[in-house]
Amino acid sequence: MPGIYATPEFFILAVMTTPARPPRPVRTVSVVRTERLSPAMVRVVLGGDVLAELPDLTLTDHYVKLKFGDVTRTYTVRWFDREAREIAIDFVIHGDEGLAGPWAAGAQPGDEISFVGPGGGWAPRADADIHLLVGDESALPAVAAALDALPVGARAEVFLEVGSAADQQHLRLTDATQVHWIRRDEHGMGYGEALTYAVQTATLPTGDIEAFVHGNADMIKPLRHHLFNEMGVPREHVSISGYWRTGLNEDGWQSSKHEFVAQMEAEQDGL
Ligand SMILES: Cc1cc2nc3c(=O)[nH]c(=O)nc-3n(C[C@H](O)[C@H](O)[C@H](O)COP(=O)(O)OP(=O)(O)OC[C@H]3O[C@@H](n4cnc5c(N)ncnc54)[C@H](O)[C@@H]3O)c2cc1C
Repeated sequence: MPGIYATPEFFILAVMTTPARPPRPVRTVSVVRTERLSPAMVRVVLGGDVLAELPDLTLTDHYVKLKFGDVTRTYTVRWFDREAREIAIDFVIHGDEGLAGPWAAGAQPGDEISFVGPGGGWAPRADADIHLLVGDESALPAVAAALDALPVGARAEVFLEVGSAADQQHLRLTDATQVHWIRRDEHGMGYGEALTYAVQTATLPTGDIEAFVHGNADMIKPLRHHLFNEMGVPREHVSISGYWRTGLNEDGWQSSKHEFVAQMEAEQDGL
């Protein structure tokens, strides 16, 4: 049969001659100030002239990889002020375990930290009828950034899980925004469980729904099933992923995520 066939030698040559991706720049910034947003969350404002090098951040889930020695931790950029050369990151304070949470809890003006990025991939679609925004506190910064970006009058159904009433935050809301705060102390359930139940049992408006759903990995499987199989939201209108997993540090979660996703897709999509 006529056609173009590539020999194994060609592939080896192609691999050898493919230019390596240039390393992503590592930028070092300093803590300018901190603000305790709630018992479980601290905002760290980072500043430095290197921030002038960042592109405009037009998405609402922009994230950076903060460097702690050889390992990184992923955090949403809550806001970027190019003129002031500052970015804000809102950290969940989740106890003494880990690197980033304890670092943020003790951060002092002048402390330095390096990061790579930003990356990101999502912003609310201007023409969606309903924006369904769902997150635990790790995704609260990204949900808050999305609410900041929504046009006046855009309809949003927001489900946010926090530890207690004291962890509820002030958000930019309009008459068309409905926020449901889910409190773990009221339900006595694990991370993401009460949030999952709240979304599964909610009576949501019908129409062209767009969904942003992030947080503890344990809520991702049931909510993905609910969105795709029960609600029939088109896949291209959904951003869903686990930001962290109970009992695993970020390295452990990231290295098992591929298998987690493959298993979920096999179960739910029959792949
Ligand atoms: C794209 C993206 C954006 C993110 N944005 C944010 C953000 O803006 N703010 C934010 O706080 N987090 C965010 N996260 C989640 C954050 O990266 C993880 O929570 C990370 O594991 C925290 O690192 P650590 O060093 O504090 O704890 P690790 O060393 O990773 O983990 C130590 C222990 O703490 C537990 N743990 C980790 N996170 C939490 C938590 N939130 N609550 C309770 N226990 C926890 C782990 O299961 C583990 O047992 C984001 C993640 C992704 C992928």
